[in-house]
Amino acid sequence: MIEKIPIDDTREGNCCPVCNSTRITRHEQRNLQVSVNLSTEKPFYMKNGRMKHLSKREKAFAFDHADLANGGGCWSYECRKCGWKSGLFTE
Ligand SMILES: [Zn+2]
Repeated sequence: MIEKIPIDDTREGNCCPVCNSTRITRHEQRNLQVSVNLSTEKPFYMKNGRMKHLSKREKAFAFDHADLANGGGCWSYECRKCGWKSGLFTE
């Protein structure tokens, strides 16, 4: 059993400060830089001097490694039980 710490300005919490629920969603806004081909509206990357479209797996990888911690990303929390929402946290 983990200790319940209400989420507050310390960013350390793991439960809702209103109802103590741990059913918390973290909404993340990440800095994700993608190159998009304007004519097709599809993201791509360059490999060996050629344009390559991103596969679903590569898109997922890019998202997972998007810069949340160092790139000025921000996030907020929402309680799925009582509807409480935190303010926006930034790095
Ligand atoms: Zn709550």
